[in-house]
Amino acid sequence: MSDSFSDTVTCLYQAKGITDKVISIAEDVSRTIRGVFRNIENIREYNQIRVLSALQEVRLSDSYFGGSTGYGFDDAGRERIEQAYALIFGGEAAFVRSQISSGTQAIAMALFGILRPGDTLLSVTGQPYDTLSQTIGISGNNGMGSLIEFGVKYEQIDFDTHGEINYDALLQALKKKIKVVFIQKSKGYTNRRALLSADIGKIVSTVRDAGSNAIILVDNCYGEFVEKREPCQVGADLCAGSLIKNPGGGICPTGGYLVGKKDLIEKAASRLTSPGIGSHIGPTLGFNRTIAQGLFLAPHVVAEALKGAVFASELFHRTGFDASPGAFDLRGDIVQTLIFNDPGHLLKFCQSIQAASPVDSFVKPEPWDMPGYECPVIMAAGTFIQGASIELSCDAPMKPPYTAYLQGGLVYEHVKYASMSAASVMGVM
Ligand SMILES: *Cc1c(COP(=O)(O)O)cnc(C)c1O
Repeated sequence: MSDSFSDTVTCLYQAKGITDKVISIAEDVSRTIRGVFRNIENIREYNQIRVLSALQEVRLSDSYFGGSTGYGFDDAGRERIEQAYALIFGGEAAFVRSQISSGTQAIAMALFGILRPGDTLLSVTGQPYDTLSQTIGISGNNGMGSLIEFGVKYEQIDFDTHGEINYDALLQALKKKIKVVFIQKSKGYTNRRALLSADIGKIVSTVRDAGSNAIILVDNCYGEFVEKREPCQVGADLCAGSLIKNPGGGICPTGGYLVGKKDLIEKAASRLTSPGIGSHIGPTLGFNRTIAQGLFLAPHVVAEALKGAVFASELFHRTGFDASPGAFDLRGDIVQTLIFNDPGHLLKFCQSIQAASPVDSFVKPEPWDMPGYECPVIMAAGTFIQGASIELSCDAPMKPPYTAYLQGGLVYEHVKYASMSAASVMGVM
């Protein structure tokens, strides 16, 4: 062997400044989590075959990838992709469009589509994701037409002291007429755990056993393909999410989706377009291929992100930090929380994640006062698609306990390397 050329990855890691200590702990971590990876691969295989079968069943063909313009009436490719989404996510119908620019927009379409003045919206998973506060009107009315401004009543049930759903409070709340029961699957930016499909199933049966026919709506962002069953497959009526997260497989450039009961899908679609036009318009402009190909890749990419999260969890747990979920915990979303209890550690962690990115690796993120947050936030995201959090990214509010929310990763090796690099830079091992 020539010594001027080394073909081991260890030498590459060393050349990139990763300490020998971190390299050795990482090797041990990899051995420890092998069984967890097998479980992730098992779910991946199951979901991959489900996705493949759906694309075959709807007879996807490359002749649909050209795309429509203008109104986009009768776009056969769009219709097939939506049928495939409905099959995979267990709904009667689906609405999958590039015209939905974010998860918030998809969820807002659902809420405005199904709630009417005087109706009550009940969140059973505490306060919904930050960006929905103004949509609902929880955080002050700004005159933009929130649900509350339109006369919708809002109630929420917080998690109990153990971070679990408060079923007693739910039963109590169901004594009144509730139009929509809202569930957020992912932990989002909170310290509670993500819900599993089984938890969603339990909420559904609690609501139905109480004799309520409330519409059960799930914010499915970050939850897709993490488990074998999706919300509508355990009884939810409607779910929504973003195509620059899990179901876009890392290649969808934009878009959002809704899946559920046919009448509810049409009501939600009528918010994006208009009543009477509903789902009938929507030019695909050449996006059918990336939406379909992203869906095809999604189970695989989600598994890569999950493996990365498990590795980061165990690596930082070994250095004495609180990591949630733990490597061996069941997961319902792709978010990994790391609690650093120190602003310096948090800053270095986020900057290392950015420096380890394929895009904008030379940019140094700093905390800034982001609109809608009560303290400075630091964000690391060297992504190919702007804001795509199925790509490795990290957000952190600069306040105690100095928690980093790490998620995504198109390839496991990237997340592994970024975590090792951060641990080395932080000098915590
Ligand atoms: C990302 C996210 C949203 C909002 O999606 P955007 O695309 O950022 O608007 C809502 N809920 C959860 C749980 C999310 O993770």
